[in-house]
Amino acid sequence: MSFQDVLEEVVADISAYRGQGKVAAYIPTLARADTSKLGVAAVLGDGKSHAVGDTDEAFSIQSVAYVFTLALALQHHKSALWNHVGREPAGSPVNSIIQLEMEKGRPRNPLTAAGSLVVCDQLIGRRSADEALEELLQFIRTCAGDDNIAVDETLAMSESKAGALNRSLAYFIAAFGNLQNPVEQVLSFYYRQCSIAMTCRQLARAALFLAFDGTDPVTGAQVTIPSRSRRINALMLTAGHYDNSGDFAFRVGLPGKSSVSGAIIAIAPGHGAVCTWSPGLNAAGTSLAGAMALERLVERTGWSIFV
Ligand code: GLU
Repeated sequence: MSFQDVLEEVVADISAYRGQGKVAAYIPTLARADTSKLGVAAVLGDGKSHAVGDTDEAFSIQSVAYVFTLALALQHHKSALWNHVGREPAGSPVNSIIQLEMEKGRPRNPLTAAGSLVVCDQLIGRRSADEALEELLQFIRTCAGDDNIAVDETLAMSESKAGALNRSLAYFIAAFGNLQNPVEQVLSFYYRQCSIAMTCRQLARAALFLAFDGTDPVTGAQVTIPSRSRRINALMLTAGHYDNSGDFAFRVGLPGKSSVSGAIIAIAPGHGAVCTWSPGLNAAGTSLAGAMALERLVERTGWSIFV
């Protein structure tokens, strides 16, 4: 059976989950998302892309962006980044503020909203937020092999206006002295990274280097060094899906990152990268149909990293 046939079977298998779950109502555009949408795209080591469903429709990548921002910030700061953010699972919702107070403004890990705010601040460094964002966009475009990827500025503005909680997180971190740039600069970068518009196909392609030890198997370019790529995968495995990261590792067994737009990237080391998109979320914020599709895909391919 071809890989394309496997993907088609997987999508047919889980069709009952389409339309289930709740959209992320706290973000204006996502509140209107259509929960019947479902796309599954995979790019394998030979560079071939396979896709089923709504895989050419763009959505905001939301916290999947944290992974790319982290990869870039680690290139700039190397292990010094860990002075500002931890690498333990949080076991709490994405926008949780509780741990921040107890841990004195050093977020648990870079894949929470608080952690990403700190990573964004570090990536901005002494530049303007606009300059740093241009570098991030260029990085993602290169990884995806597509120069047309851009930020949905209207969405970024609307989320920023509604973003009292993230603003609170940023001020809280600043109060502990863990932000070097003004809060509004950091938030401007943060919301625009979340509002980068991409399709399933583009996201799967952009994440491919993480399945091949940091090197893009198609172009041969080293995007990041092997140890860093492995560590990013380790963080995704332990902290990539809010407080259902354990459940995702249990069911799927691949490093991945979920976001509230309903996107999930999953990394199958040595095989390829997968992106699913379906806006209906479970109670923890992970796409219901997306996680089911990945669970079925791994059952059929044997791609679990725990084999
Ligand atoms: N922009 C969203 C927020 O900050 C991202 C959350 C997510 O995807 O987990 O709340």
